[in-house]
Amino acid sequence: MTQPVTLTLNAGSSSLKFSLYDISGEPVQMAVGLVENIGRQPRLKANLGEALPRAERDLAASEAADHKSALATVLALLREHFPAARASVVGHRVVHGGPRYSEPMTVTEPVMDELKRLSPFAPIHQPHNIAGIEAAQAAFPDALQVACFDTAFHRHHPKENDMFALPREYYDKGIRRYGFHGLSYEFVSGELKRIAPQLHAGRVVVAHLGNGASMCGILGGRSVASTMGFTALDGLPMGTRCGQVDPGVIFYMVQQEGRTIDEVRDIFYNKSGLLGLSGISNDMRVLESADVPAAHEAINYFVFRIRRELGGLAAALGGLDALVFCGGIGENSRKIRRRICDGLDWIGLDLDHDRNDDNARVISTEFSRARIMVIPTNEEIVIARAAKRLLQQSAAA
Ligand code: ADP
Repeated sequence: MTQPVTLTLNAGSSSLKFSLYDISGEPVQMAVGLVENIGRQPRLKANLGEALPRAERDLAASEAADHKSALATVLALLREHFPAARASVVGHRVVHGGPRYSEPMTVTEPVMDELKRLSPFAPIHQPHNIAGIEAAQAAFPDALQVACFDTAFHRHHPKENDMFALPREYYDKGIRRYGFHGLSYEFVSGELKRIAPQLHAGRVVVAHLGNGASMCGILGGRSVASTMGFTALDGLPMGTRCGQVDPGVIFYMVQQEGRTIDEVRDIFYNKSGLLGLSGISNDMRVLESADVPAAHEAINYFVFRIRRELGGLAAALGGLDALVFCGGIGENSRKIRRRICDGLDWIGLDLDHDRNDDNARVISTEFSRARIMVIPTNEEIVIARAAKRLLQQSAAA
């Protein structure tokens, strides 16, 4: 007997995250894991379901020399543990869908061409996402490949939020404010619709606070504005990314300090944010327990920017009915949530400190005009659902 499954893949520069879903009904996760340090000293971590042990081991360099061999290693592991599983569809997280894709797409040749054309828009992520698709095409030549885009959720935001005030030709060339973390926002918005439909119909700000961090203003389930722009560098400070800076800083670094553009990019992406400000770590847990002024300052800046953006997004929405936290920091850090919400009664937020300390789902008091919630995000299931849907559509066609 065979079991219909979908594999979801999230290929980063040196990692391949995967999960396996049973798609006979609503997708149910069977396994999840990742290969990290691809091409260097690769390591495999996998959770193969409740009944099975957690697998964690170093790999030989040849077992994960690139995404293709890493995928082959993952598939060998999955086949050993789930011999009845048959994947007729593979779902991929793809960072950039450009101006055109507002929905998940089956990867055909023209779609692949478009994804490659968009690579310069996301040079740090897109080529790896494409490598993941190519590896899966080679491993499953008969399977449908489905691309799910981090930009798609924002594609219908209003034009004034889609533009930069640059000469018009740049808009036409695709230099736009795209917004990212769309799979996470789609999941959270869908959960809100299920558990609190009246809030979903209203004015919601979702704060996705993880190693990457952004916020999105959502009106009636549709993105209106978000803090990320042309790349996933804009907006909030992140683990190692700077968030919003005056572009004049780039001119200064290049013209006055003689840095190359690659050096500036490395500073902005890898040496800034919480790491850059603290000089200690990009990890919020480390900073919360580090009793030194630079760590406090990094956290102060993170919280300050979130509060500032919250005000801006609430203004864009014309008010606020709910603030939802997700991502590693948003879901787990009581202290950060408290520091973000305290003193925001003027915008209708009244945090219940006990509920917040309990990591409850609703963490506002009954007197709070706007609801404050924690909804653990799940980007993989959004991909699995899309993969199943497109598989069904292709079977019906
Ligand atoms: P990614 O963007 O890589 O998916 P995550 O969503 O997993 O990242 O978030 C990682 C961040 O969440 C790290 O800064 C980590 O320190 C933070 N985090 C996780 N658990 C906690 C916790 N209990 N308290 C504070 N921060 C936490």
